Amino acid sequence: MRIKCQIEILNRCAASQGLRGGCGKSAQATLFLARKPGDIVFLIFCTAKDKQGTKYRVNKNIQQIFGKFVCDGKATIRLKEPVVDMCISKADPVELKRILKAIKSAHLGETLSGQSILSSMAPAKTKHVEKPKTKLVVTSRKDYPVTSSFPLMLERLHIHDCNLARLDSRLFNLKHLYLLDVSSNKIKTLPTALSQMESLCELNVAKNEISEIPAELCQPQAPWCKTLKSLNLGNNKLTCLPRNFHNFFNLWQLQLCNNSITKLPEQLGKLHNLRRLAASNNSIKYLPLSFTKLHLETLDLFMNPFVNDTQLPSNDVVCCSLKIPSLRELSGRIIRKHQIFYDNYEYVPYLLIQYLNCSRQCQCGNFCFETRIRFLMQFDLSRICQNLIGLDHTGRKHAPVDAVLCSCNCYRRYQSHGIIMQ
Ligand SMILES: [Zn+2]
Repeated sequence: MRIKCQIEILNRCAASQGLRGGCGKSAQATLFLARKPGDIVFLIFCTAKDKQGTKYRVNKNIQQIFGKFVCDGKATIRLKEPVVDMCISKADPVELKRILKAIKSAHLGETLSGQSILSSMAPAKTKHVEKPKTKLVVTSRKDYPVTSSFPLMLERLHIHDCNLARLDSRLFNLKHLYLLDVSSNKIKTLPTALSQMESLCELNVAKNEISEIPAELCQPQAPWCKTLKSLNLGNNKLTCLPRNFHNFFNLWQLQLCNNSITKLPEQLGKLHNLRRLAASNNSIKYLPLSFTKLHLETLDLFMNPFVNDTQLPSNDVVCCSLKIPSLRELSGRIIRKHQIFYDNYEYVPYLLIQYLNCSRQCQCGNFCFETRIRFLMQFDLSRICQNLIGLDHTGRKHAPVDAVLCSCNCYRRYQSHGIIMQ
């Protein structure tokens, strides 16, 4: 068995004299155990510069093995003679565990035959010491890897114009993938498994046929909610985004142009790291109140059918329209306020979940249902954005913001503090 990894050799003598013990750079290598006649086992590593390999005797020559991070593909083998540390990284954890176990056995003089762990002394072939492929671009169906697998160390993967109807489940095993660009295909849905990708920073699914983003993809505990920084959903068939979309709290860039989105998620303003937002050519009539909390560098909402004539209701209208909240509403307000988990169809009736999902958040932070004051206010978008693209051909900058207030008190408070945007 030969394992592919990165190796750096550190000379402990040099290090003890205050010198740097290694070159500071790991080399791509292949590492294996081989036996010479006389039952002497050697640990050998070959690099592109040294395909013959450097050999270290194993029997009674291992001072220590540092294997705390073996599950991350890392370990260090401290040899007695020569006085070096072999630092291994980027190895397959399972293979690394096997070879470390065999090194321990060989050090103790146990026999390794029958474990299919020993290799021949033959020098490494070029393919064994090549850097693993980290980028792959597939631009036609015939180049798509059907029989072969995707390289395990892939970091960037582009698949265009391959008529993909869904995302290949093999992609979800690519632990190092940080850029996935599958634009210009025929993808209809995004699978939940996507949310388990731990390294994904950029996802481009533009120019597909996606009509819905499942809420399961935006659960706060999903690994990709922590890593995703750039999301391109442009040119799809979306009509809305899930209400928990704000859980992508590291999102820096969001592209939604050329969809049929009628409404942005109410808590979109919780995306504190969002700097670039584009949602031109959609069907947005007004923006959620939280939108006013964003701090953007660029904003493009060109060509949306924003409502023009909006006004603040008068005090009289406000106080007359507010009823006394029902017991159901009061309970709902408490459940939402204290973030009591309810989204479980096994234990909570469907209609109740639907009801609780319909809550709106007042500027004060409280939630409300039927008993609320709803109003639209024209908001100057240049207040939250450095480079604003006009909303229409006249260069309009004001867009209507949809807001609710939970009580007359809130109405009076926010009106007097000028938080109601005019
Ligand atoms: Zn309120």
